[in-house]
Amino acid sequence: MDFGLNEEQKILKQSVTNFMEKECPPEYVRKLDDNELYPYELYKKMSKLGWFGLPFTEEYGGSGLGAMDLAIVGEEMARFSFEIAAGFAISIFCGLNILEYGTEKQKKNYIPKMINNDIRLSIAITEPNAGSDAASLATSAVLEGDSWVINGQKTFQTAADADNNIISLYVRTDKNVARHKGISLILVPKDTPGIEIRRIKTLGRKMLHTCEIFFEDVRIPKENLVGELNGGWKILLSGLELERLFICSTYAGAAQSAVDLATKHAKEREQFGRPIGSFQAIGHMLADMQTDVDAARLLVYRAAWLLDQGISCMKEVSMAKLFGSETYARIANQGMQIMGGYGYSMEYDMQRHFRDSRVLTVSAGSSQMQRTVIARTMGLKVV
Ligand SMILES: Cc1cc2nc3c(=O)[nH]c(=O)nc-3n(C[C@H](O)[C@H](O)[C@H](O)COP(=O)(O)OP(=O)(O)OC[C@H]3O[C@@H](n4cnc5c(N)ncnc54)[C@H](O)[C@@H]3O)c2cc1C
Repeated sequence: MDFGLNEEQKILKQSVTNFMEKECPPEYVRKLDDNELYPYELYKKMSKLGWFGLPFTEEYGGSGLGAMDLAIVGEEMARFSFEIAAGFAISIFCGLNILEYGTEKQKKNYIPKMINNDIRLSIAITEPNAGSDAASLATSAVLEGDSWVINGQKTFQTAADADNNIISLYVRTDKNVARHKGISLILVPKDTPGIEIRRIKTLGRKMLHTCEIFFEDVRIPKENLVGELNGGWKILLSGLELERLFICSTYAGAAQSAVDLATKHAKEREQFGRPIGSFQAIGHMLADMQTDVDAARLLVYRAAWLLDQGISCMKEVSMAKLFGSETYARIANQGMQIMGGYGYSMEYDMQRHFRDSRVLTVSAGSSQMQRTVIARTMGLKVV
């Protein structure tokens, strides 16, 4: 068993570190977070390095990297900002669905533009009455001539309002079959007439924004259907392992950054004439925090290894999602405790970790849903 990175992976990791240190210092992250600005310039620079194409085949302008490579990139990027890594991931994973299920025309049209960052892709599943129970989504698309006519509402949509965004919209195309069998995926440019996007004020996600989207008689060309008619649920599930894996790697990177911040503070801050880190209560808390991050990282690496072997790993990736999100949220909370009043101050970055992490046990499949998936793989008929 080898826990080390190979030479190419070490170089990849170092190149992400070098880039992020130069282009994404803490002041830049604070500026975007404070002013609620999408990281357009940074993503453009990343696209020039080919990063948006990392997991795509060379045929469409990508580099064909594997799951472990992606996990390395996700972890390292998120050490600088979880949100920046999350926004990076969303476009890529929607693009991978087009790569796998799209027509040749769709692939040639969308993937190079996404890799070049001329367009962005966001994912729209959740609705006011369809959260964890995603298959109950009701936004409808009805074929009229050569167009889909879309009506309904999506909510909690990350980065839906970003410039040149194309929404990967999951819609109901057949109401008369079992719920999972009547869903399709349609690509919808966010500026199409009939679409209204409104910001939702949230604790975090300040750069990417969280939105609701209203669709009223929105007409989209028939050819924007991705994959088979009523084949949307299969698409939604098929890329989930790699998508979750990448997002879990960002949890480990961001959590490491929070531990580093708390450790630095514990070494520098003196009370009762000594650094607070020398109080066993604080030192032990930090030791537990680092142990948790290492465990979260190892769960990610195991799932990445399995994926790279072509072995299905929904159980392992769900464990990485469950443990990674809960670890990051717990560590950000402990980090605030260690930093005392400074942790609560907007002038220090720990509060951002707290805001970034808190939603992660809910979004992209809640902790409860991950436990259900894991329990079912253990043969338990959990509902
Ligand atoms: C900041 C943010 C960004 C998001 N970005 C996107 C996005 O880009 N695209 C998108 O489509 N969606 C997005 N979401 C939506 C997200 O995926 C949902 O919030 C999530 O699926 C949970 O749905 P819900 O909020 O409706 O909660 P609910 O499903 O109502 O769940 C509420 C609580 O009940 C629990 N629960 C529900 N069902 C069960 C069950 N069967 N067993 C046990 N417990 C259960 C949940 O775990 C949770 O604790 C985002 C959400 C947030 C907050």
